[in-house]
Amino acid sequence: MAKGVWIVAEQRYGAFRKISFELTSTARKLADQLGEEVGAILLGSGVEGLAGELGKYGVDKVYVADNALLEPYTTDAHAAAVARLVKENNPSILLFGASAQGKDLSARLVGKLMTGMATDCVDVKIVDGKLISLRPMYAGKCYGEILTSSFPQMASLRPNVFPAIENSKTPEIIKFDPGLDPGQLKTKVLEVQKDTAGKVDLTEANIIVSGGRGMKGPENYVILEELANILGATVGASRAAVDAGWRPQKDQVGQTGKIVSPNLYIACGISGAIQHLAGMGTSKYIVAINKDPDAPIFARADYGIVDDLFKVVPELTKEVKKLLA
Ligand SMILES: Cc1cc2nc3c(=O)[nH]c(=O)nc-3n(C[C@H](O)[C@H](O)[C@H](O)COP(=O)(O)OP(=O)(O)OC[C@H]3O[C@@H](n4cnc5c(N)ncnc54)[C@H](O)[C@@H]3O)c2cc1C
Repeated sequence: MAKGVWIVAEQRYGAFRKISFELTSTARKLADQLGEEVGAILLGSGVEGLAGELGKYGVDKVYVADNALLEPYTTDAHAAAVARLVKENNPSILLFGASAQGKDLSARLVGKLMTGMATDCVDVKIVDGKLISLRPMYAGKCYGEILTSSFPQMASLRPNVFPAIENSKTPEIIKFDPGLDPGQLKTKVLEVQKDTAGKVDLTEANIIVSGGRGMKGPENYVILEELANILGATVGASRAAVDAGWRPQKDQVGQTGKIVSPNLYIACGISGAIQHLAGMGTSKYIVAINKDPDAPIFARADYGIVDDLFKVVPELTKEVKKLLA
């Protein structure tokens, strides 16, 4: 019988990504309801020393594969390692981050494990011993409750939505052989280009200051960067700004960009098209600055400022500076 709530942890350059702790804490909650254990899968090279850290968030067992073929991440190596371990241990639930890596890996595993999956979930619960996942549908217009009847029941969780709750445990660390044959791996990473800006990734950012077509040109983003710097925020953009070549594609928020869920999202000169809202609608607080009082973004904003952003943003920066001084 399938038993155990498992997560696939994400690490990059030898440090856990925040989503790993969000997954772990969520798994702990589900496992307590089911009376089962929490297992975490940790893959990479030179990562064994990291495993204990997952105990801080309630993991009972960490399954570690420390192997040069697992670094850097490739879909085929990671999917083969996870599939082998899952088939041997038969967990009832398997959770991933709805991050770039989690989406990529889980999609391959759904095929390998012949099971079902709910993607980009914003809530999960146990009903009658089964996992029910809540996910936004139709670009956030409604929510669907998903029940997968096959095992393991898989779901990916939207980053920044689930709390990471400390829960000190000393996990059992179990090393496993990923069973990789280099001759069978089809992907080879030739080069990894690190983002040199050193900013927190949009999907993990606590605060995002985002600009749209209302910014009028790439040179004007400097006012958003000034505000972002003092708030410790990351700068995002609408698709209109990205399509115009004002900002790189990695900055795009929305249905065809990144799905973000910061504590604070400040939208400057963004109208609030449904495809943009699909990417940031679950932000905890939304502030909109727009000179058009009828802009749809105001219907979703917690605070709205109807004015010229070129006047408001520098004024806001000045006031925040004063407050923080
Ligand atoms: C399949 C599909 C996928 C898409 N995916 C995405 C996506 O992932 N992300 C995304 O963002 N969009 C996406 N879009 C595009 C989306 O429909 C909108 O076209 C886009 O979001 C509009 O961007 P915007 O709000 O910056 O521009 P606009 O809609 O042109 O809005 C600009 C706003 O700036 C305001 N403004 C202008 N000047 C000032 C000023 N001086 N001060 C204050 N306010 C000012 C205006 O009042 C206006 O509301 C997608 C569309 C399709 C069809």
